[in-house]
Amino acid sequence: MANSRFQALDRAWEHRPVEVSTAGKSVQTIFAENVFSRQRMSEYIADATLVQLFDVIDNNKPLSRDIAGAVAIGMKKWATEHGATHYTHWFQPLNGGTAEKHESFIEIDHKGGVIEQLSGNELYQQEPDASSFPSGGLRNTFEARGYSAWDPTSPAFIIGDTLCIPTIFVAYTGEALDYKTPLIRSIEAIDKAAAEVCNYFDKNVKRVHVNLGWEQEYFLVDESLWAMRPDLVMTGRTLLGHTSAKNQQLDDHYFGTIPARVLNFMTELEQEAHRLGIPVKTRHNEVAPNQFELAPIYEEINLANDHNQLLMSLMERIARKHHFRVLFHEKPFSGINGSGKHCNWSLQTNTGVNLLSPGKNPYANLQFVTFLVNILMAVNEHNGLLKASIASAGNAHRLGANEAPPSIISVFLGTQLTAALDEIEHATAEKAIVINAKKEMKLGVAHIPEILLDNTDRNRTSPFAFTGNRFEFRAVGSSANCAAAMLALNSAVANQLMNFKSEVDGMIADGIAKEKALFIVIQRYIKQCKAIRFDGNGYSEEWIEQARERGLDTEVSVPKMIDCYLSESSKTMFAHTHVLTADELRSRCEVKWENYSIKLQIESRVLGDMVINHVLPVAERYLSILLDNIIKTKSIFLAGEAESLTEEDRSLVRRIKEHISAIIREVDEMKQKRSEANHEQDMRQKAILYHDNIFPLMESIRHHVNALELVVDDELWTLPKYRELLFIR
Ligand code: ADP
Ligand code: MG
Repeated sequence: MANSRFQALDRAWEHRPVEVSTAGKSVQTIFAENVFSRQRMSEYIADATLVQLFDVIDNNKPLSRDIAGAVAIGMKKWATEHGATHYTHWFQPLNGGTAEKHESFIEIDHKGGVIEQLSGNELYQQEPDASSFPSGGLRNTFEARGYSAWDPTSPAFIIGDTLCIPTIFVAYTGEALDYKTPLIRSIEAIDKAAAEVCNYFDKNVKRVHVNLGWEQEYFLVDESLWAMRPDLVMTGRTLLGHTSAKNQQLDDHYFGTIPARVLNFMTELEQEAHRLGIPVKTRHNEVAPNQFELAPIYEEINLANDHNQLLMSLMERIARKHHFRVLFHEKPFSGINGSGKHCNWSLQTNTGVNLLSPGKNPYANLQFVTFLVNILMAVNEHNGLLKASIASAGNAHRLGANEAPPSIISVFLGTQLTAALDEIEHATAEKAIVINAKKEMKLGVAHIPEILLDNTDRNRTSPFAFTGNRFEFRAVGSSANCAAAMLALNSAVANQLMNFKSEVDGMIADGIAKEKALFIVIQRYIKQCKAIRFDGNGYSEEWIEQARERGLDTEVSVPKMIDCYLSESSKTMFAHTHVLTADELRSRCEVKWENYSIKLQIESRVLGDMVINHVLPVAERYLSILLDNIIKTKSIFLAGEAESLTEEDRSLVRRIKEHISAIIREVDEMKQKRSEANHEQDMRQKAILYHDNIFPLMESIRHHVNALELVVDDELWTLPKYRELLFIR
């Protein structure tokens, strides 16, 4: 029988680029055609309702059922005219990805037929059978029910024949069971806190929006080869496999020519994304072979995050059409780069000012410095929490590895900003502040206006870097819902801005001039949060030591990183900003710990199966060929001659036998440890057992299997190798 691996390879190489037509499809004509956008709304909804709806969307006004009823009629009309027969509430549960339960529009008309309709109540609220979504114990203690409720700030869209309505997902008692609910709460918190601080500088500022521009990294694998790898199918990453001779050493993939098959996939993906109103803009090869990146133009953060979730599911669907599978795992292949999802984050006023852009005059610069320093304070105080927010079983492979953000959160500012902050730190308030007739202020840092912050001053090793007019949170994992990290950041910054305001207001109440009060507090903050600023090499050993001395969180075990959600400072901060209650925090931790254990449990089982069913039989077969060879050699040659001739064979035999024995022993031990862990009732402790006892065994088994892969006859090896998986033709 032919080796099935070679058959899969043949199929993979037969895959030709799937043609994608671009004729007559200018982006402008197709953009957002599948979205119930503002323009569509104005065509399908009466003016009076529209005014109320926009008030809800733009000004945080409460949403009434009457508005929902009127909007539902227009929304359904638009959707059915565009081929939709079903609708679904679309939400983002804590197990990752998105959830949907489709309902058709039909209702009995009591005349023997049906009518198609969408009622206000159906738009407004649903009760999906939520019992199988993770709640971290929230529903057990209160009520089993979960509700999805319409989020009018994110427009409905059509996929295939289904109208998708973005919703939040909450428990009967109101606790959040999803990512969107606390994200929205955090947006409200930062909006209010930031606008109030802006009012020190400009009374016209009423709202502050958060912008997010994510960069999605991913791998593509040919589906024929993917199907031959149980690890990729079941866990999204390779649990074994020796690195290929050539991988990313030559840096020849980064920004290289995109293979035709991949380019066609990207073209179709972009078209579909544009139809859904996702402004994707950038596409390129990433560092590792078969690794790519896609990024849109930044948007308001709630919408941007919905778009990321939507795009991920779109990518999976379109990849299959092109005979690919897309891997969102943070580390699908060992020995080459993993994937992240950089989150570019900034704050923008309703007057159009980017608060993270150095201003054009000193007064605007004081505002810029105010926000910059408050963000540093927030990240400094909550560095452990921010790390917890990106910690997962998958991302653990990137954190601390020599290619990705280290498992210590620090902020990179670059030389020029560092110099500016140093100058403020050492200036006296009297000397620094010169207020002229126009109420403009000089900080003794007059060179800031000339700073065109240098975009090339980039430190790729920093997990949280200032990049000219925004912060880039790079530690976020490629498979993550950005909201987890973004809501932690928003809340921490909101909380910090609230504290800042009460300090400054207190000083003003004591008769200190506003500018002087601002200056004094900022100067103190600069001194206070120095620990978080680090422009050096985040991968170096010295940094770990130094960070520990600075008091930054250096925990490397994911289950223990998660503890930070429950620290006093996190609890106080989330309560102060009304983003997450203590119960919600606890439930999120439970879900994270459970998720960690389940991921490792599945990986360890799959690894065990692959080793027993694929690797050992092949190794034993090859071993028996070698042994046959030794016996035959012995029977032909004279005794002494045969001894020397078979010495090398013998050493190979010995090595193979040793690896086989080690694998059998360790797979048994792994099973034993797994069973111990599975009996543990406490979720945190269970995750720790998986981390401490099972993960190291998986690594060791992998080491032995990879050694076997190198020596066993290639003709016998059944699992596609890295060199085959990683180079799309
Ligand atoms: P790279 O960091 O790889 O050079 P880009 O410069 O293309 O990437 O930008 C990455 C992302 O940052 C894009 O989504 C872009 O829209 C976004 N971005 C640019 N400016 C801002 C900003 N002020 N706030 C938030 N995101 C931004
Ligand atoms: Mg970037």
